[in-house]
Amino acid sequence: MNNHTKHIYNPVFRYFFMQDNTKNINTTAATPQKAQPHFPEQVTGMYILAKALKNIGIDTIYGLVGIPITEAAYIAQGQGMRFISFRHEQQAGMAAATHGYLTGKPGVFMTVSSLGFMNGLTATANATVNCYPVIQISGSSVREPIDLEQGTYEGLDQLNVAKPVVKAAYRVNRAEDIPTAVTRAYRAAISGRPGGVYLDITTPALGQILDHDVADALFSQPVDLQPAMIPSAESVDRALQLLASAKKPAIVIGKGAAQARVEDLLKELVEKTGIPFYPMSMAKGVLPDNHPLSAISARSTIMEEADVVMLVGARLNWLLSRGHGKWNKAGKFIQLEINPEEIDSNRHIDAPVVGDMKSSLEAMLAKLGNYKMAMDPAWVTGIQSESKIKNAKFLERLSVPTVPMTHWSALGAAKKVLEANPDVILVNEGANTLDDTRDSIDMFLPRHRIDCATWAIMGMGMGSAIGAAVATGKSVVAIEGDSAFGFSGMDFSTICRFNLPVTVCIFNNGGIYNGIGVPLDKTDDPAPTTLDIHARYDKLGEAFGAQTYYVTTPDEYEKALTEAIASKKPCLIDVQLAADAGKESGHIGYLNPAPLIDITV
Ligand code: ADP
Ligand code: MG
Repeated sequence: MNNHTKHIYNPVFRYFFMQDNTKNINTTAATPQKAQPHFPEQVTGMYILAKALKNIGIDTIYGLVGIPITEAAYIAQGQGMRFISFRHEQQAGMAAATHGYLTGKPGVFMTVSSLGFMNGLTATANATVNCYPVIQISGSSVREPIDLEQGTYEGLDQLNVAKPVVKAAYRVNRAEDIPTAVTRAYRAAISGRPGGVYLDITTPALGQILDHDVADALFSQPVDLQPAMIPSAESVDRALQLLASAKKPAIVIGKGAAQARVEDLLKELVEKTGIPFYPMSMAKGVLPDNHPLSAISARSTIMEEADVVMLVGARLNWLLSRGHGKWNKAGKFIQLEINPEEIDSNRHIDAPVVGDMKSSLEAMLAKLGNYKMAMDPAWVTGIQSESKIKNAKFLERLSVPTVPMTHWSALGAAKKVLEANPDVILVNEGANTLDDTRDSIDMFLPRHRIDCATWAIMGMGMGSAIGAAVATGKSVVAIEGDSAFGFSGMDFSTICRFNLPVTVCIFNNGGIYNGIGVPLDKTDDPAPTTLDIHARYDKLGEAFGAQTYYVTTPDEYEKALTEAIASKKPCLIDVQLAADAGKESGHIGYLNPAPLIDITV
């Protein structure tokens, strides 16, 4: 080591770099001036990672720090990025996934090795299933003792654990490969069908030291990060021909359309053709729920009677009975979809249109004038009058101010407040709380409803609420079942720490499905479905400084929710329901096999 070099410890970055110290050395006229040696500033792999993320347009990282990524988070903050720090990695991942869904750019989150990585991987897998663009970056331990199973700190072959459940997975062993890896991860997350990408960066790569100028030369600006994918002209003509020939056509809108931001094109298509549409749960609001062509209340009629159904960013998966069940057996399908492998996955698709949604809808609209629609006007008026009758009945049910509250009487109150605040993003999870909220609260704007989606999982609530608030700056209301809240509840503290405009409403009926489960055996233990009917969740909010409410009537709830949203502060409302409010498995009891014996004896 040259004597003129001194090691500088940076307390924020917590790494050493070397500085040229020759300028502090006394030189006199008697001493001949030597050429100044060059001691460049040096940086670590963590710095390169932060720079690479920033360079590609990432402005927010979610995560939970610890060995070996703590300094990387500090450096990211130092580079002007937000680092939203969580209490559980899974929630950081849910937040990043929601961020990705809402912005169209991959959401990014960081985890520590082994368990932290595994906790986060749950969210990355969920993002992959839901087609949300997300990048999980995890530090991992030193490779050699992992590969030889010699037992090292948090040793786990993370890359191979991740591979089966994510869209793509890459490992980085050298700091100089980090910019390339970030670009590849970005492209994989967002191109074609979006999904979860895992980026494994080993501790040696994170800690590797490079000269600053060498590091800076590693970056370039990637071109066309999300290229358009144009559908073939034949596929567009085939689809239009089939659509035009239908007497009873319908359009099913899925969250792929919401994600592709095609609401204006879809509105034009729906209004020019006059075809009724049915939105999937998270597609509510792509076109407003009160649109005259909304068939949201006529799902069975669409399934049983439509002769041509056009799927727009919706998969024929279990949520649509995989194209079987009630669906008209003679009905034909058009599918607008980016992933060619999705076509025919469950049922024969007569007219696939493979391309990105924007390009596909633009191509269809450009040729729409060439076709004359054969739709029977009675099909639309029939759906409209059926909807009118059903909606009126439904409103009647919601307007009964039952106390102690049921899901319905509580949602009657929430409906008034949320529909008066259409720009609030609604996050929703639970069993009955999910089904009934989805059915009760109309949405008027695209990408304003985020729920447990394709896997129907619990445990996305706090993370998604945080991701939605951070990504959009908008107010968020999370309507949570008491069970669902339990999975992510501790990250309510993250809402408070970052002072986010999020109101969490906990519908407490004291259990999974409800709070009146009876144990099968003679035991003093609670039933497996029983939770805490008398829990005061509002006190939990108090612990972190939130504005809190405990409400027992619809009027109280309406007042509290109005006030909470207006405050734009972290709020928690404990919505006390009756223990017998709610039933098993919501609307899909067939998925939950009944016990062989009568559980009430
Ligand atoms: P839902 O649950 O609302 O029915 P799904 O998640 O099942 O929605 O389906 C969304 C579909 O949208 C996926 O098959 C996905 O590949 C597709 N998709 C996502 N983004 C685009 C896009 N930009 N263009 C076309 N299709 C897309
Ligand atoms: Mg419950």
